[in-house]
Amino acid sequence: MPRPFIVGNWKMHKTLSEARDLAITVRDGLSTSSDIDVALAPPFTVIGSLHEVLKGSSVSLAAQTMHEAAKGAFTGEISPLMLKDVGCTYVILGHSERRHIFGETDQAVMKKARAALDHALIPILCVGETLQERETSRTFDVVDRQTEHALRHVTPEEASRSVLAYEPVWAIGTGRTASPEQAQEVHTFLRKAVARSHGDSVARVIRILYGGSVKPDNAASLIAEPDVDGALVGGACLDAPSFLAIVAACRP
Ligand code: PEP
Repeated sequence: MPRPFIVGNWKMHKTLSEARDLAITVRDGLSTSSDIDVALAPPFTVIGSLHEVLKGSSVSLAAQTMHEAAKGAFTGEISPLMLKDVGCTYVILGHSERRHIFGETDQAVMKKARAALDHALIPILCVGETLQERETSRTFDVVDRQTEHALRHVTPEEASRSVLAYEPVWAIGTGRTASPEQAQEVHTFLRKAVARSHGDSVARVIRILYGGSVKPDNAASLIAEPDVDGALVGGACLDAPSFLAIVAACRP
């Protein structure tokens, strides 16, 4: 069984002082036992500062997106080299807001996943269907296509260290969570897809997180599902007590 993994996606929230306060409260609120992995994905502007705050703690840093090139004339973009340099361990790729607001394609996620691994960053690869896709029975086709692209140029060994996040678009920031059964159904499907593409041993260990309105009161029932290995948390991670309560609910 993979170790549970909880990631807080801060999105475009928190100034430097607010970010430091939140990170310190999360850091100090976590017990030192190593039965669960926790990462924070703050905005780019505060990553370097939070690296200082979190140094020596059990909390890792993730970025929310990146460009695939190491450097170059890409105004406004951030490279994997830069993320590694300021202390990131993980990078979220293909988040639905990147896909649906900023037009990020499956091809782009494919290139970024390769680039992340080339720079020793662990990709957290987001997949998920829109409400319309769910209502027209296309959920499995969509997540299959997104996962296949994301892992296309990833070796089995790299895939076993990578993270998938199933985030139904209709559940993100809406307060409408997938039921534990709905999450488990898609997670099982994804694990089987990984088994086909990268082998059974990879499918057994790859971590598949659920994201979409995870809150302290629904986290335990989601993580109780056998194929749900953790959570990607948006809104509820902006408040330290609620994020810490989610982590506590997901401890094995
Ligand atoms: C997310 O942004 O990845 C997310 C799951 O957001 P929320 O928890 O607010 O639905």
